[in-house]
Amino acid sequence: MTLVELQQGEKAYITKVRGIGAFRKRIMEMGFVAGREITVVRKAPLGDPIEYNILGYNVSLRNAEAQLVEVITVQDLKEHISNELPPETIPFVDEKFLENHARKKGKVINIAFVGNPNSGKTSLFNRASGMHERTGNYSGVTIESKEARFFMDGYQINVTDLPGTYSITAYSPEELYVRNYIQEKAPDIVVNVLDASNLERNLYLTTQLIDMDIRIVAALNMYDDMTKNGDSLNHEYLGKLLGMPLVPTVGSKGKGVEDLLKKIIDVYEGKDDTSRHIHISYGKAIELAITKIRETLARPENKHLTARISGRFLAIKLLEKDEEAWNKIELIPNAEEVKEIVHQQISIIEAFIKEDSETIITDAKYGFIAGAVKETYKPAKKRRIRKSDLIDIFFTHRLYAFPIFLLIMWAIFYLTFTLGAYPQEWIENGIALLGGAIDKGMTDNMFKDFLIDGILGGVGGVIVFLPNIVLLYFFISLLEDSGYMARAVFIMDKAMHRIGLHGKSFIPLIMGFGCNVPAIMSARIIESRRDRLITMLITPFMSCGARLPVYILFISAFFENYKGTILFAIYLTGILFAILTALFFKHAFFKKQDVPFVMELPPYRVPTGKSVFKHMWINSAAYIRKIGGVVLIATIIIWALGYFPRKQEFSIDYSTQIAQKETLASTATDPALEAEFLKEADFLRQQMKSEQQLNSYIGKIGRIITPVMTPLGFDWKMTCAIIAGIPAKEVVVGTLGVLFPPDINSSADQSISERIRNQVILSGPDKGKPLFTPLTAISFMLFILIYFPCIGVIATIKKESGRWKYALFEVGYTTVLAWIVSFAVYQLGSLVVG
Ligand code: GDP
Ligand code: MG
Repeated sequence: MTLVELQQGEKAYITKVRGIGAFRKRIMEMGFVAGREITVVRKAPLGDPIEYNILGYNVSLRNAEAQLVEVITVQDLKEHISNELPPETIPFVDEKFLENHARKKGKVINIAFVGNPNSGKTSLFNRASGMHERTGNYSGVTIESKEARFFMDGYQINVTDLPGTYSITAYSPEELYVRNYIQEKAPDIVVNVLDASNLERNLYLTTQLIDMDIRIVAALNMYDDMTKNGDSLNHEYLGKLLGMPLVPTVGSKGKGVEDLLKKIIDVYEGKDDTSRHIHISYGKAIELAITKIRETLARPENKHLTARISGRFLAIKLLEKDEEAWNKIELIPNAEEVKEIVHQQISIIEAFIKEDSETIITDAKYGFIAGAVKETYKPAKKRRIRKSDLIDIFFTHRLYAFPIFLLIMWAIFYLTFTLGAYPQEWIENGIALLGGAIDKGMTDNMFKDFLIDGILGGVGGVIVFLPNIVLLYFFISLLEDSGYMARAVFIMDKAMHRIGLHGKSFIPLIMGFGCNVPAIMSARIIESRRDRLITMLITPFMSCGARLPVYILFISAFFENYKGTILFAIYLTGILFAILTALFFKHAFFKKQDVPFVMELPPYRVPTGKSVFKHMWINSAAYIRKIGGVVLIATIIIWALGYFPRKQEFSIDYSTQIAQKETLASTATDPALEAEFLKEADFLRQQMKSEQQLNSYIGKIGRIITPVMTPLGFDWKMTCAIIAGIPAKEVVVGTLGVLFPPDINSSADQSISERIRNQVILSGPDKGKPLFTPLTAISFMLFILIYFPCIGVIATIKKESGRWKYALFEVGYTTVLAWIVSFAVYQLGSLVVG
């Protein structure tokens, strides 16, 4: 009997919990396991929900849920025992004994054979049960199931042989029958019988069973046929990928049947660690729709549905426009709402991908299967070759794959920067024009300073990278939509495994060279939480575009002859730190061995313009939002810290001197002389600004922290630049430009790098020596490389991981690491240089 049938106040022992995985997991966590005592505390007036007492706690369950919990009343159990035991032992029956007995009473496993027609279900059914049902090379005419029962290892096993189906959509009566059987009867284990010699086709049904969130054991039947062909299969690994054990069998000869049954018992007892619920990934658009639909389904009053049918499965079926699923929805209270959401999602998906929602889902399933099979199945000889296979021969070739991959990546970076240079220049000019207009159009006041230095200087400096970002996303979308990205993941998988990550981690890492923010967001494609976290935490070591101007500045100042090499070395150092950090995190924090995932290999496709542009837009919009949000606020704060306090004692009376120079200029007759005076006035303004900065709040903060930074070779101005770089690295160069104003005595037009190179120490024993050496430059660049790229990245880590913990850890980890590395390099370097 089940829990619902108990009367108020009645006591019973739980014998079994049924239902889909998610439901079972939740309810078992609440204490509902075989052998537990449970009491009915109170029935609601209408009999739903019912309150139970278990382990001293009161929990209330809906009828639909309680129906899935099988029990035996204490009275029945005692009666049962008194029939079995000799009368003199009855007085010794205690709680423990009853519990054990209840658990034993629950030793019934209901299994059902599901599989394609002619995969050998009936043969296996007969072998397992000792029955003699007809087997044959034909599809069933009547839709019926055969049942049998037998005993094994103390279990009563009830086995059902279901009609053969290729799928469990609602197209044919057989399919509907099988689907309803699984949902209504909720067998404990579904045995998915596969024709191993025809694996890809057979696995299609398996992907649907996976969506149903049920416990599956797969029989790799016709194993003899498969090996006869000379094919080989790493079935253990395939089992891990699919989240279910695979047992090789030969149904016609009864081989492997014993192993199959043993495996079934193991899985039932929860002893098999290959058995787990995986999600087949249907791509961003579909997954988003699934989430939305599941949210509308997740209502307490819908429990009668969601305890038996996985919300994910139902959502997928609804998106596939599956009639049966739509009928099921009709019966729930918020049917209209769900239907509306589904309609809406289908039209979004179809408009976006330009393809039937069913086709998209089917394609994703075949992509999943292709990926799983490619990794585990070695055919003896090539059979029919599809177009995608043909292209794959080239793109995933043992020798060519890497060169092709590198070439494509190089081309993307090259094009991103060369093509991006033009719009970048337009934006720069536009900002300069705008700044000039504001400068001319407004009288000198604080608001003008704010607009020019705060907004244009800060946000403008960031927005110039937008073209690069847009282009990078354009290419990445092309790679994704064409299907090549999946191959890149595939060929990088081995290398990524070396550092304990999955091939999919490679995508965020590559994207990190553009901008870390969307890169971290793209880590969503990684199924494993551990891999996703590690990937998010190491992505910031991928040197993003915002850090490039800093390198360029220092490299042109000190390494004129080795520009490319040094830049390459910096990027490589970042990669090295990413690898070391991944290894370190894996060993220090995430000891648990992770399970493998399938890398889908979708068919190659010509990308549609609409989808590529849409992808590109979504990602670029994220970058623009970052500029409009975090960067804007941060630059305003930095600007204010540098701008205030305004009332200051200056070393010389700048205002008067500037006014003097300007009067001289206006009275000068020689235009060359006039320009000279104007330039001097400009220099004075810069100097005043610099002195003002020194005494501003940021200057004060910088000087407080400077002692910590001196051992790394940084002075207070560089320290300020590092602090200014916290909101965004784009701010660093701008800050240096403001803090190192041009030399007033020199008439030559000086770039910031020249200015930095020409700085000398003004006092002390080293007076007159250069303030910065190539060593300082390296130390500084390393610091910029290693400490977290920007506030936006930290905010994104928080958002994607759901925890502040990880975001704050990243701040601490990267900053401390940056300090240690720069310290070591500067100190050791100083020893060597002398
Ligand atoms: P069902 O349609 O899934 O119930 O499949 P059947 O059990 O009726 O089997 C279909 C045919 O395949 C029969 O002729 C069986 O004898 C044969 N068969 C079943 N299992 C195996 C196997 O493992 N190897 C080989 N070679 N033949 C098998
Ligand atoms: Mg049959």
